[in-house]
Amino acid sequence: MAYRLENDLSLKNRIGNMIEWLGTFGKTKSGGVTRFLFSQTWQEAQFALKDKMGELGFQTYFDSAGNLFGRMTGSIDKNHIILTGSHIDTVVNGGKYDGAYGIIASLLAVSGLVERFGYPKKTIEVVSLAEEEGSRFPLTFWGSRNISGFYHLEHVKNLQDDHGVTFFAAMRAAGFAPEKYKPAARTDIERFIELHIEQGMTLEKNHNSIGVVTHIVGQRRYTVRIKGESNHAGTTPMEGRKDAVSTASYLISYLTKRAKEIDKQLVATVGKLHVTPNVANVIAGEVEFSLDIRHHEEQILDFYCQELFSMFENVSISLAMDISVSQWMDVKPVRMDDELNNWIREVALKQKICFQDIVSGAGHDAQVFASICPTTLLFVPSHKGISHSPQEFTSLEDLATGIHLLETILYKLAYD
Ligand SMILES: [Zn+2]
Repeated sequence: MAYRLENDLSLKNRIGNMIEWLGTFGKTKSGGVTRFLFSQTWQEAQFALKDKMGELGFQTYFDSAGNLFGRMTGSIDKNHIILTGSHIDTVVNGGKYDGAYGIIASLLAVSGLVERFGYPKKTIEVVSLAEEEGSRFPLTFWGSRNISGFYHLEHVKNLQDDHGVTFFAAMRAAGFAPEKYKPAARTDIERFIELHIEQGMTLEKNHNSIGVVTHIVGQRRYTVRIKGESNHAGTTPMEGRKDAVSTASYLISYLTKRAKEIDKQLVATVGKLHVTPNVANVIAGEVEFSLDIRHHEEQILDFYCQELFSMFENVSISLAMDISVSQWMDVKPVRMDDELNNWIREVALKQKICFQDIVSGAGHDAQVFASICPTTLLFVPSHKGISHSPQEFTSLEDLATGIHLLETILYKLAYD
């Protein structure tokens, strides 16, 4: 391939400068970033990016969901799009790299290719997705799920943020009036590639610069309610108590132990516990806890959940206490595209990049795109695995490696 890498030092400077620049939109006192969907800082960031894309030679446009696109039109095939990018929104006081890196990397990779080789044969678009995190409104993937055709206005007409601002009012304030909304579904995307920070410790621990994501985990979330009997902590004998906290702790230690035994990659988390009446000298009459379960294979999730909930039922019968389980999230595991991943592994080997296959334990826009086109997701290391925090950090070296790899893949897809 007639392909040479841009001078490394100048690329690193550009990456560093752009990460800092984008991080100024919504910068917090502690050095983090808060950029919620349709907020003023979000709007400023999207429009500044639009200008930046223009400077770099992209044709720019927004869809009516608030996704920003920068386009380099193909000289031969204009109609099939190679899409790359990530999300512009953040969690509260998040890091500078989550989402932002994927957008910046795509801009630098594509503009670098155009500088050196001219316009691609096949159209490439860079996308700055409106929303992924679910930080402001109780929904996630507003950006990518508009593109996939899953979301439209009907889904958000009753939503409000914590301050009582409706989704429609927020849209309007950011310049995307719901009255002018047109469905944003795309049918012309041929492939989607997302570059993202790992947000975990695996790559750093293994001294690898790139993670080739094979799967994004499925996630199931439940609320478990245990009804016992509230009574006096001093006068009620241990025998015959219906202590909801004691039962909850039994269930929680069991589910934790079984998750460890069943599969190394199975994770189960009880992160929220609500005790009633929550008083030191009263036996708890009721406990409610959250349960988050993730794995990349549906059968493992099925196996674990079935076993767990039948154990809960047995406990409920033997203690004569009511235990109910209600599910409120069921996201299926998603497999990334094998063909794309094979190319990426080949390139990484040739470029002597240290890489490994990896499963993503967090959700990403790539899982939405996988429902409409061959898609993959690449990770660069997160220092100490820290993310969703002002301490989020990835070295310029690793950021540059990700961009080099993305350039090579885009070259193969759109220039070859
Ligand atoms: Zn992200």
